[in-house]
Amino acid sequence: MSKTAFENAMAQLDKAAKILNLEENILTLLRRPNALHQVDLEIKMDNGESKIFKAYRIQYNNARGPYKGGIRYHWNVTEDEVKALSFWMTMKCSAVGIPLGGGKGGIIVNPKELSVGELERLSRAYIRALYQHIGPVQDVPAPDVYTTPQIMGWMLDEYEKCVGHHAPGVITGKPLSVGGSQGRGFATAQGGVYVVEEAMRKLGKNPSDTTVAVQGFGNAGSFMAKILSDLGYKIVAVSDSKGGIKSASALDLVALEKHKETTGAVAGFTGTENITNEQLLELEVDVLVPAALENQITADNAPRIKAKIVAELANGPTTPEADEILFKNGVLLIPDILTNAGGVTVSYFEQVQNAMNYYWTESEVLAKLKPIMVDSFNAIWAMKEKHNIDMRTAAFVVAVARVAQAMKDRGL
Ligand code: NAD
Repeated sequence: MSKTAFENAMAQLDKAAKILNLEENILTLLRRPNALHQVDLEIKMDNGESKIFKAYRIQYNNARGPYKGGIRYHWNVTEDEVKALSFWMTMKCSAVGIPLGGGKGGIIVNPKELSVGELERLSRAYIRALYQHIGPVQDVPAPDVYTTPQIMGWMLDEYEKCVGHHAPGVITGKPLSVGGSQGRGFATAQGGVYVVEEAMRKLGKNPSDTTVAVQGFGNAGSFMAKILSDLGYKIVAVSDSKGGIKSASALDLVALEKHKETTGAVAGFTGTENITNEQLLELEVDVLVPAALENQITADNAPRIKAKIVAELANGPTTPEADEILFKNGVLLIPDILTNAGGVTVSYFEQVQNAMNYYWTESEVLAKLKPIMVDSFNAIWAMKEKHNIDMRTAAFVVAVARVAQAMKDRGL
């Protein structure tokens, strides 16, 4: 039986702990979340009936700062998945050195089946059930799969109604009109591009002869495709939950966006061939960007991955067994906790701006984001070289060491 996301996360932790010779008591604490909130949300549907949705907020570790992490709306959300994601958030904030801990939320729901009104009532109910556990210096949620700035706006409003005062720093990824940050919409992708550019420099490769396949054409994946394409990379394949497409030449992403808007899928785009999500992963491309969900690259398909760089924009797309295979095959995998950390970094900037009530321009935000991503990449690269390990293990070594230090300094 394949391992769960949390089991995979713990395997990653153990690998780093071994290299660090981590104290047993710290490792024991790092193997469990600080708090796990599970609630049932009762919503009045448009037809007058009531429906109950199970929801989670897991607060993994706050040694380095307030818990931080998105809220996922997906029919496959489980406690195990949210726990893994909250652990990865802890490691991600630490890997890029921002002063935040890790948490994550989720609701078991297919948001595509809800009306706008139902979605708003569900989002507000989530906050009413959990507002005592979150706050600008306590736990700060954000968007994730199938949650949007609009949903963050409703959640902010509900939180402020519950506590009776303005508190924009309680949630990030908000619309600009209510304290969002410039650049947050594409920050995850932009951060991913900064680290891919660093990896390309290390490998001595040139964007104009580099082909890219992106799995998942959502917020993270579609912006990554666009920014890379603007830099001269050839995006030759993309996919979404309904399947993928591939093309012999670079895709016209503006036309593709329009096609997806009108048909609801990337499949069937003019001049392309339909492929499955599985086929997309195994294409003959230089850079593969998983930007959808967990457990996509496994021991099963890893031997057939042909990309030279795998940039994990999604959280947890590669299993530990697949990691070993890719490493042996000389694939440079840039791990999720580094590649997609641009999102949480600009979320952190959003909070800082909210606290000051003073806002930066997009170029100011990007000028602060780039050195964090580039320096983090190079610190993790140096760790990889020092121990002759893969980039993921190196990222975990850097991240675990910082969390452990904060725990020790607190006297835990
Ligand atoms: P999103 O909802 O905007 O997009 C998700 C995309 O994945 C959609 O195109 C959807 O059709 C596709 N998808 C869903 N199931 C799929 C499947 N089985 N196969 C292929 N594609 C599938 O979500 P997002 O915010 O872009 O998040 C994508 C990934 O990036 C997630 O792993 C998320 O945790 C991670 N991430 C996102 C952010 C962010 O700021 N948005 C930050 C860090 C990490």
